[in-house]
Amino acid sequence: MQGLMMNRPLMISGLLQHAGQNHGDTEIVSRLPVGGTHRYTYGDAHRRSRQLARVLLSLGVGPGDRIGTLAWNTHRHFEIYYAVSGMAAICHTINPRLFPEQIAYIANHAEDRFVFFDLNFASLIEALAPQCPGVEGWVALCSPDQMPGAAIPNLHCYEDLLAAQSDDYEWPQFDENTASSLCYTSGTTGNPKGVLYSHRSTVLHAYGSSLPDSLGASACDCILPAVPMFHVNAWGLPYACALTGAKLVMPGPHLDGASLYSLFEEEGVTMSAGVPTIWLGLLQHLQGNKLTLSTVKRLVIGGSAAPPAMIRAFDEQFGVAVIHAWGMTEMSPLGTLNAGKNKHHTLPAEERDRIRLKQGRSIFGVELKIVDGDGNALPHDGEAFGDLLVRGPWVTSGYYKAEGDDAFRDGWFRTGDVATIDPDGFMQITDRSKDVIKSGGEWISSIDLENIAVAHPAVGEAAVIGAAHPKWDERPLLVVVRKAGQDVSRDELLAFYEGKVAKWWIPDDVIFVDDLPHTATGKLSKLQLRERLRDYRFSGA
Ligand code: AMP
Repeated sequence: MQGLMMNRPLMISGLLQHAGQNHGDTEIVSRLPVGGTHRYTYGDAHRRSRQLARVLLSLGVGPGDRIGTLAWNTHRHFEIYYAVSGMAAICHTINPRLFPEQIAYIANHAEDRFVFFDLNFASLIEALAPQCPGVEGWVALCSPDQMPGAAIPNLHCYEDLLAAQSDDYEWPQFDENTASSLCYTSGTTGNPKGVLYSHRSTVLHAYGSSLPDSLGASACDCILPAVPMFHVNAWGLPYACALTGAKLVMPGPHLDGASLYSLFEEEGVTMSAGVPTIWLGLLQHLQGNKLTLSTVKRLVIGGSAAPPAMIRAFDEQFGVAVIHAWGMTEMSPLGTLNAGKNKHHTLPAEERDRIRLKQGRSIFGVELKIVDGDGNALPHDGEAFGDLLVRGPWVTSGYYKAEGDDAFRDGWFRTGDVATIDPDGFMQITDRSKDVIKSGGEWISSIDLENIAVAHPAVGEAAVIGAAHPKWDERPLLVVVRKAGQDVSRDELLAFYEGKVAKWWIPDDVIFVDDLPHTATGKLSKLQLRERLRDYRFSGA
């Protein structure tokens, strides 16, 4: 017997329509790439998104067409998210930090018909256009007086296009499983792979991510996505904010500590989310200038392991609760968040600390399991670690236009992460399977060793890689960027590990460098680091 409930499809446009109707005067504030601040409301955003949907129709865009963006977090990018998906086309966010050849590959693979871009990418677009013959038009996100002088074919002005259309547009209702947006993820090898989200997966993710033990978003919040809209849809925040009616603050390209701090204070930001590198910049700015945070209550740190020293610094020095989160482009992205349970309140501080460093519990909808090398399920005892597998309604079932990827088998997605899961469901990543250090047949967690290094007061940033060793196969090598004006020696750093890990886990050597390589999404690039240190040999080994 079927239930007698209405079968209304879960539509992305429904999120903005809801925000426009119920939070019509709630602000969306944007720092623009060209300078200056733009302010308007969900009511305005809803109106302009409907105008933009009409623009797309007038350009001949239809259901299923891919529309690319090379853009920062601003109100215009927000409008594109909703207008493109809302009219049944597919919003394809491209990471502008990738190499131009990769961007061209991605735009061509996705068969983007139009690409919307921020002005500071004008020269990139000029170089890109000849390599992307399938793109019928390029739309500059600006007003007519700001149009770039670059030689870009079929160039349109965003504000001109919008001005020519009315907002007389009804969002169409269609199958909720229709594709809505597309994001390419760069693996460590091969070409980037496309993850194709649907209306249903996006709306369910927005519900799940807003829950109290997830991001805890509400209409009383002011949320600043410090993660770019080209990195897994800014972790879904543009959707979760519309769903809850939270005030939205868009930082544009200004993600340095000083810019974030001033936005936090001026706009009354209560919650923000981003990768550890961003928060390192903010922490150094706060500490270096003896500042306090007056409105921020929660910071979500994910994308790479949040170092314990960072979690403690925000908590103890600035009164900000850090929510450690884990996810992937393939998971929309949220999989787990670290929210404590009632019984944890009475635990000794050290034990509580140990738990809050984990990547957290899965949101309802995301199922996790760990398996050994033969695919046998491992116990959830917090000790056994193995390959982490996931499934759920916002986990991808396969890459776009790619067949037979080995990551998808038996209805589970192989994340490529290695993890433990404890009896309370708290998952802890011990490594990326490619980064784990294999020493004498045993595994050493590079993340654990990095976390210890960055807890040293003179260390700004640290990475640990497995370097070839004639006897042990691999041994850990610590690579460190010292904090400005601070000194620490190799031996002092190695001594710092004593008593914190088993003796055989302690790195064999330390190298000091001026900077560490990062990926296009701001994470440490172990691949590039290994490449840089290809010729390194342990002395005496
Ligand atoms: P991406 O798809 O670019 O977001 O990368 C996803 C990968 O980032 C995951 O598979 C993990 O290896 C890593 N990652 C994300 N969040 C965390 C975290 N909190 N701790 C450790 N690794 C993380």
